[in-house]
Amino acid sequence: MKANHCRPSVDRLKKTSLFQRRLLAWYDGNRRDLPWRHDHDPYRVWLSEIMLQQTRVAAVLEHYRTFLRRFPTVKRLASARESSVLAAWSGLGYYRRARMLHAAARKIVKDLAGMFPTNAEGLRALPGIGRYTAAAIASIAFDEPVAVVDGNVERVLQRLLGRNLAGQETWQAAQGLLGRQRPGDFNQAMMELGATVCLPRSPMCRACPVSGLCSTRGALQQPGKSPPQRKREIHYALHRENGSVFLVKRPKDASLMPGMWELPELPLVNTAGEPYLKLRHSITVTDYLVRVSQATAPDGSNGRWVPKGRIATLPLTGLARKILRAAQVI
Ligand code: SF4
Repeated sequence: MKANHCRPSVDRLKKTSLFQRRLLAWYDGNRRDLPWRHDHDPYRVWLSEIMLQQTRVAAVLEHYRTFLRRFPTVKRLASARESSVLAAWSGLGYYRRARMLHAAARKIVKDLAGMFPTNAEGLRALPGIGRYTAAAIASIAFDEPVAVVDGNVERVLQRLLGRNLAGQETWQAAQGLLGRQRPGDFNQAMMELGATVCLPRSPMCRACPVSGLCSTRGALQQPGKSPPQRKREIHYALHRENGSVFLVKRPKDASLMPGMWELPELPLVNTAGEPYLKLRHSITVTDYLVRVSQATAPDGSNGRWVPKGRIATLPLTGLARKILRAAQVI
């Protein structure tokens, strides 16, 4: 009787450890060679995790390297001016992340003698670090056995278990699968599986290292659909004179990208005729059709003339950088 009573938990344990072994063996042989996986330095792990939030790996790669060249340590980041940090972040979007990163660096240097907290709880007390990021840094840099949940992990878990999970339930399921050996690699392996094999639309179950332990093999319906993208047109003036360009600074209290520099906006009524440049740009749920005219900035624009050589050092919005590159100004 006693042995039978114990059976389900023993089976579950065996299954869990088989799952961990298969996943880690697959990760060891198949993981992408990404620069932030070369060491477990908490500063580098933290930077990569913040950059990767809502941003594709391909977009992060270049920024990660240049940011580290400019701010190789948490001390160098803490002592930088905010405008320099924003300039180095330019093009990655979601600039609040850069401000929080900077604020956290200052706190680490000022209050913690330049040392990172070594567990998830301590890390969560820093600006801009939520539950996911704290668990990622603690497990990867300090081997703390705390599970991460991001969109990829959530999808993998739901398919593995064969049911839709919500909130705390998802975190518990992730924690239940996590081994005490190599928790950082395990977390990265779960995310890697979601990013490269257990894809949102068509999971590649034949190539999946844990397909034998998966309840659904991709058959689970995902709840809800992502909201449709909004469409908007926007018109800017590219005003050049004597080797300078007229740029405006977004208000400090703007809800998006406060304090960043961009081209002066023109009313849409001025869009008759072919613009100097036409391009497309997406920010979160909005797709923009962007027209740029070689025109004078509207009266009352709160801006200034910036010499071409200085433009790249300003914290530009991603769209401004894109336009100025397309116009070969920078
Ligand atoms: S078997 Fe398919 S659905 Fe299940 S985890 Fe692997 S890739 Fe995802």
